[in-house]
Amino acid sequence: MMKQIFYSILLLAAFSTKAVAQDASIFPKGEISNTDNHTGTVWLTELNKPDSVFNFSLAQATFAPGAKLDWHIHPAGQYLLITEGTGYYQEKGKAGQIIRKGDVITCLPGVAHWHGAAPNSSFTYVAATPTTKGKTIWLQRVTDEEYKSVK
Ligand code: MN
Repeated sequence: MMKQIFYSILLLAAFSTKAVAQDASIFPKGEISNTDNHTGTVWLTELNKPDSVFNFSLAQATFAPGAKLDWHIHPAGQYLLITEGTGYYQEKGKAGQIIRKGDVITCLPGVAHWHGAAPNSSFTYVAATPTTKGKTIWLQRVTDEEYKSVK
């Protein structure tokens, strides 16, 4: 009996440790974004300071389930390194795709696209964005139809 209780407690401890480990992201979650270029809750952390050597911005973004950016364009492109969860990515004129932890997404210069969390998962990536050709150009909101069409 005691042995059974002991193993139950051990099992419970193992599960709670796993849950904590899954919640712990590598970088701090950062501040909630109050910009008007997304729907749902998005946290942002800048990972580097602008400088004259690298001309690259590194930032982590975390999305609550269902949160997503509006359509937008990076004049010099962008890499997305997915570090947690499941999300959606869509380029103009193409079907949306499901993207997951471990995926590396290439957004080519000038291509309109959006990215965000799947409805039932939080979602985190590190974005590497060249700063050489100016800022992100924000376009229209992602419609419910567009969001729901991703599968
Ligand atoms: Mn983008």
